[in-house]
Amino acid sequence: MKQLVLASHNQNKVREIRELLAGEPVEVLSLSDIGWTREIEENGETFEENALIKANAVFAETGRAVLADDSGLSVEAMGGAPGVYSARYMGEEVPYSVKNQAIVDLLARVPEKGRGAAFVCVMAFVRPDRKGRPVRSTARGTVEGRIAREAAGTGGFGYDPIFFLPDRNRTMAELTAAEKNIISHRGRAVRAILPEIIKWARS
Ligand code: IMP
Repeated sequence: MKQLVLASHNQNKVREIRELLAGEPVEVLSLSDIGWTREIEENGETFEENALIKANAVFAETGRAVLADDSGLSVEAMGGAPGVYSARYMGEEVPYSVKNQAIVDLLARVPEKGRGAAFVCVMAFVRPDRKGRPVRSTARGTVEGRIAREAAGTGGFGYDPIFFLPDRNRTMAELTAAEKNIISHRGRAVRAILPEIIKWARS
């Protein structure tokens, strides 16, 4: 079985990716599993740049196949923010209950049609070819919704409680993990890059 390093310490992401790759001949390792402690600076301006920065950094040092993601929330009424700054919005240590309430308050006077938002995820997969040279690919997944009038639900993480899905009449945090994986930006991005991973895993 091939090993794939997921360039993240975020256990929520590791769990989601493991669920999405279940059944494939791939063992998913986190950065903690390989003893990686170095901070990777995500100074790109797009999700693609940041995902590749992370994947390239781990590949350069380990020569292992790596899957890196960069994701975030883009809010129409905030000009697309927090975008690539989603984790850093208001400060990395600020709890999401506070960040979520701040966004709800910021949009208090915004009518329904201006409340559009999207979760975006870009996956970058870098693997060695027979000579150990990097082969790179990226894929993007998005899910559209609206910023809720108030936070609801306890599932998922981050901005899920304020991300309302009109089709389901529920927030992302009110979905089960399995329901979220089917429709989420991360699920879509993983499924879009999956053929590349499978081709490599079975080679
Ligand atoms: P990254 O770790 O640099 O990709 O930053 C992603 C950030 O975007 C997270 O820390 C969350 O703030 C937000 N985010 C990404 N995906 C999700 C999701 O599925 N639910 C809620 N928030 C998310």
